Amino acid sequence: MKYCVNCKAENKQNWFYCRSCGQKTSEPKFTTNLFKMSNLGKRTDIELRTTTMQKDIQERNKRRSYVR
Ligand SMILES: [Zn+2]
Repeated sequence: MKYCVNCKAENKQNWFYCRSCGQKTSEPKFTTNLFKMSNLGKRTDIELRTTTMQKDIQERNKRRSYVR
């Protein structure tokens, strides 16, 4: 059974455009992979930034307590 990639509706006749939401029922595989890869890359980047920022704040707090 084929399903629409947008709304996950059943696509029994294997329509190119979904009968339910009107969007394309499938995407070329390379596009999906590229999208996933770039999405993952962005996510890791943001996570890395957040952790470094948190460490930075922790370090500053430590220094403050030392000064006092
Ligand atoms: Zn759909």
